[in-house]
Amino acid sequence: MSIVQDLLRINTARNRRARLPAVAAQFALGIVGLILIALVCVQLGFGLARTGFAYVILLALVSLFGSFGASVVLSILAAACLNYFFAPPLFQLSIDLPHDLERTAVFLTTSLVVTALTTRLGRAADELRGVQAKWEKAERVAHFGWWERDFTTNHVTLSDEVSRIFGVKPVDLPDWHGRWLELIHPEDRATAAEAASAALHPGGPRYELEYRVIRPDGAGRVIRSHGDVTWDETGRPLRQFGVLHDITELRSTEQELRASERRFRTFVDYAADGFFLFDDHAMVLDVNRHACESLGYSREELIGKHPRDFDLALDEEAIERLRQRMLSGETVTFETRHKRKDGTSFPVEVRGGLIEQGGRRYLSLVRDVTARKRAEEALQRSEAYLAEAQRLSHTGTSVYGAGGNLYWSEECYRLWDFDPLQGLPDAESVLQRIHSDDRDRVRKEIRKALREKGEHSIEFRIVCCGTVKHIEATSHPLLSAHGDIDQIVTTHVDVTERRRAQAQAERLLQLESDLAHMNRLSIMGELTASLAHEILHPIGTARNNARAGMRLLEMSPPNLSEVKEALGCVVRDADRAKDVVGRVRDHIRKAPPQRDVFDLNEAIHEVIVMVRTALHRNKVSVHTGLMAHMASVRGDRVQLQQVMLNLILNAVEAMSSDKEGMRELSISTEPSQTGGILVGVRDSGYGIESEHLDQIFEPFYTTKSGGIGMGLSICRSIVDAHGGRLWTEANRPRGAVFQFTLPAVNESTEIPSSTCFETVQMTPAAREAEGSDSRNPGLKSATQEPSALK
Ligand code: ADP
Repeated sequence: MSIVQDLLRINTARNRRARLPAVAAQFALGIVGLILIALVCVQLGFGLARTGFAYVILLALVSLFGSFGASVVLSILAAACLNYFFAPPLFQLSIDLPHDLERTAVFLTTSLVVTALTTRLGRAADELRGVQAKWEKAERVAHFGWWERDFTTNHVTLSDEVSRIFGVKPVDLPDWHGRWLELIHPEDRATAAEAASAALHPGGPRYELEYRVIRPDGAGRVIRSHGDVTWDETGRPLRQFGVLHDITELRSTEQELRASERRFRTFVDYAADGFFLFDDHAMVLDVNRHACESLGYSREELIGKHPRDFDLALDEEAIERLRQRMLSGETVTFETRHKRKDGTSFPVEVRGGLIEQGGRRYLSLVRDVTARKRAEEALQRSEAYLAEAQRLSHTGTSVYGAGGNLYWSEECYRLWDFDPLQGLPDAESVLQRIHSDDRDRVRKEIRKALREKGEHSIEFRIVCCGTVKHIEATSHPLLSAHGDIDQIVTTHVDVTERRRAQAQAERLLQLESDLAHMNRLSIMGELTASLAHEILHPIGTARNNARAGMRLLEMSPPNLSEVKEALGCVVRDADRAKDVVGRVRDHIRKAPPQRDVFDLNEAIHEVIVMVRTALHRNKVSVHTGLMAHMASVRGDRVQLQQVMLNLILNAVEAMSSDKEGMRELSISTEPSQTGGILVGVRDSGYGIESEHLDQIFEPFYTTKSGGIGMGLSICRSIVDAHGGRLWTEANRPRGAVFQFTLPAVNESTEIPSSTCFETVQMTPAAREAEGSDSRNPGLKSATQEPSALK
């Protein structure tokens, strides 16, 4: 309180100081005026009354300066002057006449009253001017003014600010009403005129209007105006007084606000999340479009709802707990399920927090996580499939980066026998699992792979719990933009089973090869008599020729030219014997398969030579119909001769059991329809029943008492391995015909270097039989008793 009083005192003191010059001026003017009036009135011979009147006027005027104190002092001085100059005794400050005393007292009283009133008037005028100035300033600041219309004169008065708002000067004011309508925006003009005239009807609406103005300078303003009408006793309008407010800024601010609100609403509505604004009682105050669409409600339907109306997981307690957490400033995040209007539900993730917006508000952002959940589930499923696929295929995956191993798949841990719970194994532990014989090689290969920055495959063994596994690791480097290795992705395949199967297959192929070799040995054994004859015959001839040569030498003179001829025959016969022995040796020799190009016709001739004696002994006549030109084929000459020998001996056997009839063997080669060569072996034997046409190629199928049933099976394997096909059919009029094709030389007839039998297709029965007897085939062995013919 005392501070306020101090302030007031300071203010008063300040005012006083500010008014001091005015008081001094008032005082000086008063003194000068008193003296001048005294001099003039003395000169003019005015008496006390007239001089006193002049003094009252002077005092009234100087009182307008505002200081009542100065006016009082001047009034007293004026009374003294009247007494001194105009009341006898003159030039003395005493009054003899009671009448003068009265008049001086009246003067003093009058002058004090007048100065008091004048001072107040002056101050009131000052204050009024101050108020008026402030009002005008307020009008300017607030763009606010007043207007008045006098219906008796039809004159309109506008405040300065109103004139400024309309952009008119006071000279424009005559005929203001018409001018006013012109200034109004054409779209608002009719409404304004209507509102103005409606307000002038008794009981009509109050004049209250917002309209746009286009000022003479072209600038547009928005105006809000309202006014009240004063009526005379007959109900006619006398005056209308109103106020007018330039609300252009307000409207444009409002428009901007609305636009910004619309923009904000658009953002919110088009957001991919649902927005919920709750009040302190968890009632929905507002929602965005997404929230409405996701729940299937309209905005109006959702406003006022409670979370329990659409949330399947939240009860009152949970909502209150969440509210408390948000009140403590926490942003809560949780997953729940929302229920749509149609009763279906979907999983959502909610993030909520407290905001202040005219009270406590809670804003929740709700995200539909159906797709994410599905994707997560799909990811989990695909990971499970991948893990299962890796487990089934014994394939592990690892990723190696700068800091060591970055990732190992489940199967990788299993393959290498590391515990996933122990974390990723370090590089050294992994190396230690590698078989000591392979470790250095693996290290070198890794260094090479890192140098070359390319894809690398390496096979090595690892030792886990005393067992050895074969691992095939294929690494693929992931390079950075600079070409450096960022990471290495490696697949680890457990190829132990594959290696075992390979080893077994190799053993099997070896057995097949051995079997084929034994088959040849067996044939050679069967042909012993025939071959012995083939060898003995040239030897005998050579012997005879040698004898003849000796006799020719003993002649005198010796017939040397005849001797030379005889010796030539000896050499030829020896060569023939040598050839036969050579061929036998080829068939007995165990040699790796060849892939040479040779003349099949010539090879067939050799076979016929080998079996010639057997044919002769069995009274079989041979017809050959071989291609005129060379029948070139690529493959193993001995193996294909083995096929021919098998077919010819089978044919001879089929014919020799028949006591009656012709025994005719026909051997042919001709171009096949596919461009290769077709070989045919026809006999006139007992033939093959149609239901056994395929069966006879199965291993161990035989109709002979001493037969093994492997010959045709081996023949088919050999022909298949040469890219051809072997089959049989009935011969006309009797017997059987065996035919096989071989591809043309330029066709792909790659015979595997290891063996001819790799592509052999065997029936399950054959496999079984092979498996059970492969260790001890004993088929058509050299030691076996040959069948009747063989
Ligand atoms: P094996 O001669 O030891 O019986 P093969 O596999 O060579 O074994 O022959 C299987 C069977 O096919 C023979 O037992 C025979 O019944 C039949 N066969 C083969 N060639 C002929 C042929 N030219 N005529 C009639 N049957 C034949």
